[in-house]
Amino acid sequence: MTIETKILCSNRAVRHLEPLNARHTFGPAAVVFLGPPGAGKGTQARHVANEYRFPHISTGDVFRTHVAKKTALGLQSAASMRRGMLVPDEVVCGMLMEHIRDLGSTGCLILDGFPRSLAQAKWLDHFLHTRTGESHEFPREAPVAIQINIGRDQLLRRLAGRRSCPSCGRLYNLHFQPPRNPEICDYQGAELAMRPDDSESVVCERLMVHDQNTLPVTEYYRRKGRLLEIEGNDTVNAVRAAIAVGLESVFAMQQHKRHRGLGI
Ligand code: AMP
Repeated sequence: MTIETKILCSNRAVRHLEPLNARHTFGPAAVVFLGPPGAGKGTQARHVANEYRFPHISTGDVFRTHVAKKTALGLQSAASMRRGMLVPDEVVCGMLMEHIRDLGSTGCLILDGFPRSLAQAKWLDHFLHTRTGESHEFPREAPVAIQINIGRDQLLRRLAGRRSCPSCGRLYNLHFQPPRNPEICDYQGAELAMRPDDSESVVCERLMVHDQNTLPVTEYYRRKGRLLEIEGNDTVNAVRAAIAVGLESVFAMQQHKRHRGLGI
């Protein structure tokens, strides 16, 4: 039984039991966003993180910062990123572990762009299990994955139209979320930039890498009954609403489980 179908039975019964802010003390240890490049993972992950006030980690953003600052990690990952290839698992996992420890937060992590290989997914399960095991105050459940599904043609259009502001990091899409002036950030007035790995040849490589390495991750979460699939071929707000419904269900289900465990 999937998360979605399980929750429909218990949703009504448990909704009133706990105030909203209690979410910080239960629920999954992480929500991971899966989907091909251009599916809208970054935009949606940021919405969820803001909504629930959970820490958001984009491994791609962390790597881009390291590349810009020319740190040892940046130098190590730059070549893979330029070619649209994955940075080696041990490098990504080591970087993420340090990043999470530095955050010092016990909140549910919103992971965007991680895991991207089966080895990373298994590492994450193990890492979070050990981490939440250490925190008796905030025991959390295994991570839940949100897969955003979208057709290839739509993806290619989105990637070609993707722009970001180098000053504030705000994301735009010339077709779907256009700035007032196609070349300028609405807020900073800075000239918008295209990601170097959004060029046509690198995009093809990234899509191939996604199919080979990351589709098995979707299957991994599906097999474990921890996958929410969302139709991504819609407006940002419609996708956001669908994700909210799915996540509410997960929280309600885990809340229900907790209350039963406590004998309430
Ligand atoms: P993104 O912004 O998520 O599309 O990531 C940009 C690039 O960073 C990817 O094409 C990879 O080269 C690298 N990268 C980000 N996250 C990972 C990851 N979990 N595993 C391996 N490489 C990654």
